[in-house]
Amino acid sequence: MKTIIDQPEMDEISFGQLRQNWRQQFAQRQIETAALDARLLLCAAAGLDQAQLISKERDLVPPEIVALMAQFGARRLAHEPVARILGRAEFYGLSFGVNKDTLVPRPETELLVDHAINLLPQGGNFIDLGTGTGCIAISILHERADISGVATDIATRALDMAAQNAASHGVEKRLALLAGSWFDPVPNGERFDLIVSNPPYIAQSERDLMNADALSFDPDAALFAEEEGMAAYIAILAVARTHLQPLGKLLFEIGFRQADQLEKAAKSAGATQVTFFKDLSGHNRVAQISW
Ligand code: GLN
Repeated sequence: MKTIIDQPEMDEISFGQLRQNWRQQFAQRQIETAALDARLLLCAAAGLDQAQLISKERDLVPPEIVALMAQFGARRLAHEPVARILGRAEFYGLSFGVNKDTLVPRPETELLVDHAINLLPQGGNFIDLGTGTGCIAISILHERADISGVATDIATRALDMAAQNAASHGVEKRLALLAGSWFDPVPNGERFDLIVSNPPYIAQSERDLMNADALSFDPDAALFAEEEGMAAYIAILAVARTHLQPLGKLLFEIGFRQADQLEKAAKSAGATQVTFFKDLSGHNRVAQISW
């Protein structure tokens, strides 16, 4: 007797077929990273790493994994970023948990971490203002075992995430997490060798120019600032000097067209030196400021 099978049912599909199936659906929606996204989401749905997924290409996918992948896939088709669906993102070679109150760490921000690591003196300390996932502070501490840090954020659920991330990378003993706006939770007169911050810096008027995917899934409070995107910088610059050691420095991530405005704001706050560093796209992305 012959059994005739026209189409594979969803409960008898192989890992390879399921991956291709979602890749095509993503590609039809103009998602540029269709192949990568299908692979990452299927790995997560199945609890496999990429090598394991390849070795299972011809194996049948258990129905509960098909169902979970269908949920992940539907969210991606609605343009939710993969990092939001998985609740995790890679930054500086480490994996960070993200939640609704944190930005997804961006590759540009790694430039700020590079400079922070170079500037910090042996045994020094730093403060990270608006830490979010904690990606900047935790990456610095992970690279430099001699350093300790303070990180603040106004969103307490962001601080919870930062605490989890610090613990999972083994730096929690060297990182104090404080709830409050910028320097508010820091005692007057407490000084640091380095201040770092990637604050919200997008002007409300720039909303339309932004990548729609990121915009609708990142928290507004992490993205937008008043005064044409300058409000956070101005607030931090106003008191930064009182929290810096005599040779201390301030590092900001800035928007790709903000260098001139930032230099003006820093000079009006009495800064004597402002240097910019370019990202891989050639934009001034990090400002180094000192008094
Ligand atoms: N410091 C965090 C980061 O760089 C959060 C930044 C933010 O929310 N603006 O990802």
